[in-house]
Amino acid sequence: MIRTKIIVTYGPSISAPPVLRRVIKHADIIRINFSHGNKAEWIDAVKRIRQTSKEMGKDVALFADLPGPKVRVEGITAPIQLKRGDEVRFGKGGIRLSYGSFHKDARKGAVIEIGDGSARLHVKEVRGSTVVSRALEEGVISNRKGVTLLGLSMDLRAPTETDLELAKFASMLGFDFVGISFVRSARDIRELRKASGNAWIIAKIEQREAVRNIDEIARAADAVMVARGDLAEQVSLEHIPDVQRTIIGAARDAGKPVIVATQLLTSMINNPMPTRAEVNDIASAVREGADCLMLSDETIIGKYPEAAVNFLARAARVAEVSMLTNPANRPQSVKRLSEGIALAAADLADNYRADCIFIPTKGGTTAKMVSRLRPKTETIALVMDGRVHKLLSVYYGIRCMPMSRYHSVDEMLALVAKIAKQNRIRKYIVVSGSPNKPGSTDTLKYIGDST
Ligand code: PGA
Ligand code: MN
Repeated sequence: MIRTKIIVTYGPSISAPPVLRRVIKHADIIRINFSHGNKAEWIDAVKRIRQTSKEMGKDVALFADLPGPKVRVEGITAPIQLKRGDEVRFGKGGIRLSYGSFHKDARKGAVIEIGDGSARLHVKEVRGSTVVSRALEEGVISNRKGVTLLGLSMDLRAPTETDLELAKFASMLGFDFVGISFVRSARDIRELRKASGNAWIIAKIEQREAVRNIDEIARAADAVMVARGDLAEQVSLEHIPDVQRTIIGAARDAGKPVIVATQLLTSMINNPMPTRAEVNDIASAVREGADCLMLSDETIIGKYPEAAVNFLARAARVAEVSMLTNPANRPQSVKRLSEGIALAAADLADNYRADCIFIPTKGGTTAKMVSRLRPKTETIALVMDGRVHKLLSVYYGIRCMPMSRYHSVDEMLALVAKIAKQNRIRKYIVVSGSPNKPGSTDTLKYIGDST
């Protein structure tokens, strides 16, 4: 069984029903990237995903990724091939961008990067509202690709008006998660929450300011993403490993799940097998404490989407096994009684080799705490509410089963016993809050022989 959760981004590579079906088998969440396509296409994607997951009897959560204020190339009909030294103009009289103030932020000597490194240009001069640059090497500029000024920040605010409108649209369509791109502070998240209805908010960390404000952002959001694609344009590439570790650490301290995204298996866009370095990258992310790993181009435009998701699951699984023998990942300090009880449940289950930890949960609080402790023992949340099931789909190790409502601890234990029996589980831990005190964790019970 794999514990690391997997997000797959929807795209042409996986839209055919048989492929979608095989991909959903390994996926916990499907992401639809609102930076590309239009509402009709997204509605169609949601229909296909829901239909397929219904046929399979497997719940898969939906994640709408909002475009944010990204600067993009606009209005070019065919890709422009560049040779080293070619002159390229942006703004007035040149390539149009989705951001009118580019010339105000660009400086002579700055480096412009397009489409995660597909072209790099050197700014020669800024002439009025035209930015004149030269290609640093061979490259290609295509429509809708992102544009960044390496090391310089542009005055971009998230959420944009479009984000707010799309967040409403996503929540109306019943998306479980919305992602906020280029978030900079907890305030941005609070603003998005006014528009995103019931959807959980994923803060995409891809700005330097967001890394600086990571603690408040992690507290305000429901989940955090290490969005390495855009992040690497902001902090130089060689710092990505450290920044990734910082973000994962901050999310775990705040008790929030964390997703590691982008270029996990880039070589598999064109090849059926990954590189050695990619396997290492996956293992590091899992060992550092990532709850969830995400595929993007691998499943949007890749030639081997099924092989990619298969391999991701296999590599994560192997990394988990080695992590589970290293208890360093378990936070030892306990701030609240409820955390102490969750920790005791994890320790007890592992030491007594229980078959599983059952976590009856109304809002998911106890399950989230136990997930963070990374117990060796399998963790099964017993949920009364489909929405909580969807939220828990981003938390490491938590498998969900449905349970009916109860009014007392005795009633709860009787229901758990029934579920255990149906699943032939004899030795287990139950950890939960009392029925009349949601959000608290105050009940711990061991069922099985007492040797
Ligand atoms: P994107 O976000 O794919 O929506 O750009 C992820 C990233 O930047 O890494
Ligand atoms: Mn991004």
